[in-house]
Amino acid sequence: MITDYHIHTKMCGHATGDLEDYLAVAIRDGLEEIGFSDHLPLYFLPPAAIPVGYAMTEADLPVYVDAVQRLQETSPVRVKLGVEADYVPGCESKLEKLLKAYPFDYVIGSVHFIDGWSFDNQEEIDRYSQWDIWELYERYFTLIQQAAMTGLFDIMAHPDLIKKFNYLPSQDLMPLYEDTVQIFKRAGVCMEVNTAGLRCPVQEIYPAPGFLRAAFSQGVEVTLGSDAHHPEQVGAGLPEAVNFLKAAGYSEIASFKRRDRIINNML
Ligand code: ZN
Ligand code: FE
Ligand code: FE
Ligand code: ZN
Repeated sequence: MITDYHIHTKMCGHATGDLEDYLAVAIRDGLEEIGFSDHLPLYFLPPAAIPVGYAMTEADLPVYVDAVQRLQETSPVRVKLGVEADYVPGCESKLEKLLKAYPFDYVIGSVHFIDGWSFDNQEEIDRYSQWDIWELYERYFTLIQQAAMTGLFDIMAHPDLIKKFNYLPSQDLMPLYEDTVQIFKRAGVCMEVNTAGLRCPVQEIYPAPGFLRAAFSQGVEVTLGSDAHHPEQVGAGLPEAVNFLKAAGYSEIASFKRRDRIINNML
């Protein structure tokens, strides 16, 4: 089967379209199963410091959960209740409490912030020049490894998001990939194959081919996601992602129900 497990909605403040608009594209295109994974509220910031346009508000979270659950009852396509949660070191217990309060099918863990810097935000791109790019990669990979080890996440999102704007170190990245997939395996998390990279300056799926091959050799399971922020992006790039997975040796993808992993044959 083919799934799209990474779908946002306008509730996050930087996407367009309601749940129904995204579902309509999934139905039209014949996807078997989709999962909504809108951005969890920025739980790690004090309420007065939470910027608008990054994530749903805390008040919206139960509204989101309710709306997905209502859709599940009538949808001809299987719909899962997921969420994309930021990892910020030191804020684990707050996150754990928030996640426990809702019956999520899966939680996608993301690193979008490095010491408060929203490094995947076009408007903050000038800060790359303050870094040695290799050190930045080491820092980023350390964070996703720490995130995996918390046990709070089922899936690690866009695992090499740090390449988004094409700031690439000259050093060989394989050692970082290999350390990371070993930790993912030990932590029991899936790696997400996320096609949003195809729509960004880097023009490459997350993860990079060598990163995916390393994951396969460690036996790390994978999920598929478009990271749709507009309804027309549902399923975008998934045929490429399937070919990419097959080339790395994969024949199976993971799906989730109430945080239990199910392994399925890929189409
Ligand atoms: Zn987003
Ligand atoms: Fe993300
Ligand atoms: Fe996302
Ligand atoms: Zn994302």
